[in-house]
This record gives sequence, structure tokens and C-alpha cells, in this order.
Amino acid sequence: MSYTSRLTQAIIDLDALVKNYQYVDNLASNSNTIAVLKADAYGHDASKVAHALRSKVKLFAVAFIDEALALRDAGINNSVLILEGPFKESDFEIALENNFALMLHSDYQIEWLKSITPEFSGDIWLKVDTGMNRLGFHVGQIDDVMSQLSAQQINNLVLCSHFATADQIDCDRPAKQLAQLKALVAKYGCKYSMANSAGILNWPASHGDHNRLGLALYGASPIGDSPLSQPLIPVMTLQANIIAIHTVKVGESVGYGNNWQAQRETKLATVAIGYADGYPRNAKSGTPVFINGTQAPLVGRVSMDMITVDITDLKHTAIGDIVELWGKNLSIDIVAQNSDTINYELLTRVSKRVPKVFA
Ligand code: PLP
Repeated sequence: MSYTSRLTQAIIDLDALVKNYQYVDNLASNSNTIAVLKADAYGHDASKVAHALRSKVKLFAVAFIDEALALRDAGINNSVLILEGPFKESDFEIALENNFALMLHSDYQIEWLKSITPEFSGDIWLKVDTGMNRLGFHVGQIDDVMSQLSAQQINNLVLCSHFATADQIDCDRPAKQLAQLKALVAKYGCKYSMANSAGILNWPASHGDHNRLGLALYGASPIGDSPLSQPLIPVMTLQANIIAIHTVKVGESVGYGNNWQAQRETKLATVAIGYADGYPRNAKSGTPVFINGTQAPLVGRVSMDMITVDITDLKHTAIGDIVELWGKNLSIDIVAQNSDTINYELLTRVSKRVPKVFA
């Protein structure tokens, strides 16, 4: 039996998730839109997200096999693409048994594949390094890789690459990356996949046979407040309640350290969420939270279990009131900007001790 005494929770709006999927899928109507569920569906609960999307989505993607097996354990039978490839030779057997597609990026994985031939007849994705310089075969290696693979009974071969700067609309790098991948696609006549969320939204020319939709599925924007991101609905609302109210005099500080002093007599609300819940410790004083229809600034340091908020200018605020840290009323981007991080990191770092409530 699970008992929850705090009101701190992440509310996950699965209807919003489905709407986001449909919105983005419609933008790329000639492509198959893969839902990326790695990192526990960007902190939203991969099992719940997969169940909400299973009838609409042909292919899910995760980072590694453990995450794909967790989907099978949760009763998800859709095909799953493993984005970061096999980490062990035995991953090939597991992939075959479970209908997982593997993304190969290095020679040692080709050797593993050849060593288990002819049993392997699954789907293989080849990651091509078009300039990200993290994972993938260089364009000049692809001839050799293709000839090595020609003896294998691969069911489906997809060429794939990943954008480094698809969020930057005035940058020429995405077009250069895309041109490299498309030249290979023309040469080998394979299916291909280039676009992530920012690619789908910003670069229609990059829509491939498969697009890989991560962040935007969860209603967060990879491209700031561009009009194309306006229809996205935040799926996660992170909230907590006020557990104490204090008034401090001019010059007094709050919490650990001394990085904020009251410039006026200040009414402070202590809110039951801290860095152990995934609220960023480096959120600066002034980062807004949303209380009773308006915004109020965080003041002082973020503690493990608590934050403090200046509610001097708010009327009728009381112990027990709900505070939204990000979500439908307060953009996660504002919190990310105030914490020197990105929306991806905030979503994926909400910790296990925050119960998720599914709406
Ligand atoms: N494709 C790959 C290979 C990824 O690693 C990721 C996520 O990092 C995605 C697609 C999804 O990217 P985004 O969340 O920006 O849509």
C-alpha cells in the first residue's frame, strides 16, 4: 500500500500528450512519427505514455534495451527502436526475440551482427555521423558497412542521423547534415530518418520515412516560443503546497547561505518541494512560481525538500495553497532559463519520490 503525506506531485495529462502527438504527426503527414520514450518518457512514466499512444504509434524508441524490455513488461507489444544501439552482443538475441530494431553506430557492433548470422533477421538502423561527432559511421565508411551487411538477412535497413542544431533556424548546419544523409539515401535507396522534434517543427525538408519525436510530444518546445510550438500543451504540471508562512524584517535572509536579504518587510511562503524532488538547486532568486492565479518569485537557496517564495504582494495566500512550479500556467522554459539549464533536463530529473497523478 502506498501512502502519500505530501501534496507534492506531478500531474500528467495524457490527453494533452495524445493531442501533441497528433499535432506533430499532422505536420509531417508523409512520415511515420516515432514516439521517443527514453528516460522514462522524459520523466512522464514510459508505461503510461506508451499505453496512451499504443494504438496511434507504430514504433516507439528508447535509449537502450533495458528500457525496451520494461515496455514489454508493461504489456506494450509495439515495435521498439533502440536508439543507442546494442551495448552487448547478447542484445541482438534479445532484440530478435522481442521485435526490437537496433541502431548500429560502430564497427564492433557490425562484428557482433556478423558473428550471429544467419539468425539475425530483424530491423537494423545505421547511424550516420553527419556532423554531430558523437555516434555514427562516417559518411566515407558507409560503402564498406553496406557491403558487410549485404550478406545478412536484414529485414529492413534504415539510414539515420541526428541534428546538432535543428533548433537554430538561421543556421546552415542542419541543411548540410541533411544533404549528407540524403546523398546516401539516394545512393542506396534506403528508408531514412533525420528529424527530431526541432527538425520536424523547423525543417520540413528533413521529414523522412520516420521522424523521431521526443520533447515536443511532452508539450515542451525545442524551439522557444516560435509560433509552431504554440499548439503544444504541457503534459506535466509539477506542483506542491505551502507548508509555512513567515514574515522577515528588512536585511534578514532565508534558508541556507546568505544569497538573498529582504529589501522590505517580506512575507515568505515555504513550499514543499526541493532539489531532491528535481526542482533545480541553481534556480536563481526571482525564478517565478505560480500561486492563486499569479506569479511570485523564489527567494533564497533551494533546499533539499523546500523552497521559499516572496508572497508579500499576494492577497489571500494561506498554508495549504497549491503552488505550480511549471506546467500549464508557468512555462518550464522560464524555470530552465533561470536555472541555467534546459527543459529536457528539468523534465527528466523529477525524482521518484514525486508521485505522478494521471489525468
Ligand atoms: N533521436 C535521437 C537519436 C535522440 O537521441 C533523441 C533525443 O535526444 C531524439 C531523437 C528525440 O529528440 P527530441 O527530444 O529533441 O525530439
